[in-house]
This record gives sequence, C-alpha cells and structure tokens, in this order.
Amino acid sequence: MIIKHNVQLQPYNSFRTKALAKIFCEPRGTDELIEVIKTHPDEKKLILGAGFNLFFTKDFEGLVIRPVMEEINTISEDDNHVEIEVEAGMEWDTFVQRCVERGYSGIENLSLIPSSVGASPIQNIGAYGTEVSETITRVKTVDLKSGDLKSFSNEECRFGYRDSIFKHQAGQVIASVAFRLSKSFEYKEKYIDLSRELNGTPRPSLEQVREAIIRIRTRKLPDFRELPNAGSFFKNPILTKEEKENLLKKAVDAPVYNAGKNRFKTSAAYLIDKAGYKGKRRGMVGTYEHHSLVIVNHGTEDGREIVAFMKEVQQEVMKQFGVRLEPEVQIY
Ligand SMILES: Cc1cc2nc3c(=O)[nH]c(=O)nc-3n(C[C@H](O)[C@H](O)[C@H](O)COP(=O)(O)OP(=O)(O)OC[C@H]3O[C@@H](n4cnc5c(N)ncnc54)[C@H](O)[C@@H]3O)c2cc1C
Repeated sequence: MIIKHNVQLQPYNSFRTKALAKIFCEPRGTDELIEVIKTHPDEKKLILGAGFNLFFTKDFEGLVIRPVMEEINTISEDDNHVEIEVEAGMEWDTFVQRCVERGYSGIENLSLIPSSVGASPIQNIGAYGTEVSETITRVKTVDLKSGDLKSFSNEECRFGYRDSIFKHQAGQVIASVAFRLSKSFEYKEKYIDLSRELNGTPRPSLEQVREAIIRIRTRKLPDFRELPNAGSFFKNPILTKEEKENLLKKAVDAPVYNAGKNRFKTSAAYLIDKAGYKGKRRGMVGTYEHHSLVIVNHGTEDGREIVAFMKEVQQEVMKQFGVRLEPEVQIY
C-alpha cells in the first residue's frame, strides 16, 4: 500500500473544499487496514468514505484512511432470504443495483443515496420510509487504537434516526457490513411521493421501484458535480412536548410527527423556508432553490464560508422558532 504525504482532499469531499492531509492511504483489504493502523499508532486518524457527508475547514494534521476494498460475499442463503457481506469501499448504489438485478429486496428505496457501504450504518442512511438498519445483521470493524477486529450485531449498533453507536464512538473503522435481504418482493406503500411516481403501476417490480426513486431523486437534488453539496445539511429536529407546543404557537402550520417516547419530529426544510432562507445566498454559499435543506457551494474552496452560512441559518431559525438545527454533515 502506498502511503502519501500532503494530499489535497478537495476531490474527496462533495462540497469540494480544500484541505491537505498530512498522511493519506487507501487500504485495499482488511489486512492493509490493520497494518496502517498498527504502523501509525500515534497519528490522529480520520476515515474517509465517498466524502458525501463531510467537508473540511482546515488541513488534517494526521492520517487519513480511505478504505477502497470492495469484495462482496454471500454468507448464507435459504429459499426466502440471503445474507451478503460487503466490504466498506464499495459504492452504495452499485451494491443496491446488484441486489435489485438479482431480485433481492430490502434496500431498493435507498437507491442512489451517495455513500460508500462502510458509511451506510454510521448515520443509518434512510429515504422513502426505509432505513438501512432494517436489513443490517452485522458490522465488522477494526479498532483504531489496537488494530483488533470487532463485530457489532444489529442491536449493538444502537441504530436511531440518522444515528448509530459509530457516530458517538469514533474509535472504529468499519471494514464490512452484512445485510439480510429478501428473495421476494411485494410493494408496500411507505411514502406518498413514491406511490405517486409509480402511479398506474398496480404491482410494481423491484426494478420499477428503483427506477422511480432514481427519477425522483434526480429531479429533486442538485448534482454535486455541478453544484457541490452534501445532501440534507441539517437533521430534522426532534422536539420535547414543550418545544413542540412552543413551535406551534409561533408557526401554527408547522408539520409535527410523533417520534415516540413523548418526542416529536418537525421538518428542518419547513423551518428554513419559513425563516426566509429558501434559495438564499451569501457570497458563494446558499440554500438550493428547490430544496432549502440542501446547502450548496457556488464556488468557494474555503469550508469556513459554509460554516458561517450554517451558523446564520441556525441563528435565524432559533430566533424565529426557538428550535436548534443540528448539522447532519460532519465538519472537519
Ligand atoms: C446529494 C446527496 C443526497 C443525499 N441523500 C441522502 C439520503 O437520502 N439519506 C441519507 O441518509 N443520507 C443522504 N445523504 C448523505 C450521505 O449520502 C450519507 O451520509 C452517506 O452515508 C455518506 O457516505 P460517505 O461514504 O460519503 O461518507 P463520508 O462523507 O466519507 O463520511 C461520513 C462520516 O462517516 C465516517 N466514515 C466514512 N466511512 C467510514 C468507515 N468505513 N468507517 C468508519 N467511519 C467512516 C467519516 O469519518 C465521516 O465522519 C446525501 C448526500 C448527498 C450529497
């Protein structure tokens, strides 16, 4: 494995901000991953997936590890289900496509989410009424201190909304993820936009569902190659009963959904729109004109400009509605 120094990270984050990595490597297998961890015990470490959910505000004075291994193996199979283990470096949508081609269902609603397989459990990627945690059986990791292999069951991953144990315990590199998928498929309505897109198709096939999702996503979201972005910038806020009531006094039509345990989810996009930030721009940074949850980069290479805009949106939403917007995107 080649160890490089002073590597520009701009091509490796979808916001296209500039930063140098002091040391950079791309392990092609778990053995190389363990080797680089063991040979650099004292370096601060950062793991890079496909770079769709992070950006840089400064150089990284340590070791950046970008796993590129992408083996895929069937671990078990019966008449109804198949369990597949996939290495971290595989592109998420390539994996979804392969599953759909083979008639394996469970992750088709997550088509076209830009991600590596390795990052998919971290924020429990989700879309169109499906979360990846519904199909994950096991996550294998390498400990960043000891280089030891560990295995997390689904329960041990402590999945939540855009959340998992890996968001809170930064000490692991995900090396592979195992998924249990169904060999049959029956469309169940989970998301109204998707059913609308499938209108006229009484019993859509797996391929038709995937194609419908690809059409919706392509229409709705900016292409990061033309307009750099990291998808939804903020999480949808989860409110206490008191916070919810306070919000509804200030915005009577605010969408509020029951999130269980006396908690309520509202829409970050609604709050940003209502605060007057839909399509708003400050210099080279702004919200996307068709989807205000997406912050877009119109040409800066300096991540600090994105942070300044983020803070402005957060302050305005807090001032107007008393709700704190938390970024979903990781900022380094
Ligand atoms: C246009 C667009 C649309 C999006 N739509 C959605 C959506 O519908 N639903 C959704 O949930 N998300 C969405 N996202 C967010 C993004 O797709 C996910 O967060 C995705 O999982 C990021 O994967 P990545 O490989 O690019 O991770 P990166 O951005 O490279 O990394 C994200 C975080 O995970 C860590 N990490 C990455 N790989 C590993 C690993 N192997 N081991 C340990 N840590 C690791 C990194 O250190 C970082 O903290 C969207 C993003 C974009 C740009």
